[in-house]
Amino acid sequence: MTRDTNTALVAPILHGYYHRFRGKNLSTIFAELPVKAKLQFEPRLNDGDALVDLRSYVIQLPAINNAYKLYFLVCHELAHIILDLHDFAHIIIGPGYWLQEAWCDNFALALTLAHLGIETIGQSENIETFFSVGMGVMDKNSRNATVAQQIKTFCHGLEMSPPLMRFCESFIQTPW
Ligand SMILES: [Zn+2]
Repeated sequence: MTRDTNTALVAPILHGYYHRFRGKNLSTIFAELPVKAKLQFEPRLNDGDALVDLRSYVIQLPAINNAYKLYFLVCHELAHIILDLHDFAHIIIGPGYWLQEAWCDNFALALTLAHLGIETIGQSENIETFFSVGMGVMDKNSRNATVAQQIKTFCHGLEMSPPLMRFCESFIQTPW
């Protein structure tokens, strides 16, 4: 295991999985994972919170009625599993924690928007730039605001369906 926090090393790994998984539903993605992961709803979790146990690969999800948000939360935890499978130690505190959160959010956002036919990584200068978005953000509210901003950027000029609106709004306190 490494505690490496070099986005240049991580971006190609996550990008590879993005290509394998894009447009696929969760059961297909889970079938393709090299480990057996499981989903579990946990009513005590807050709306935007999910967890993964990196020994059992059980992903715990909040009991919310927001399909895109659930897909995003699962993909975020899948990114943690992928990092673990590639020997990047899960960092649980400090700047390294927040950097891993940014990598996982960017991965999850790319897959969620790909499901809606929206290209993200291809709109960025390069994959390292894409996965670096939100680097240095070190609190939960600002993290969510960064994701909301990314959604606004990538959906700019597109008609927002109600489920997509609900997905975006789940990252911000006030509607936009
Ligand atoms: Zn995370």
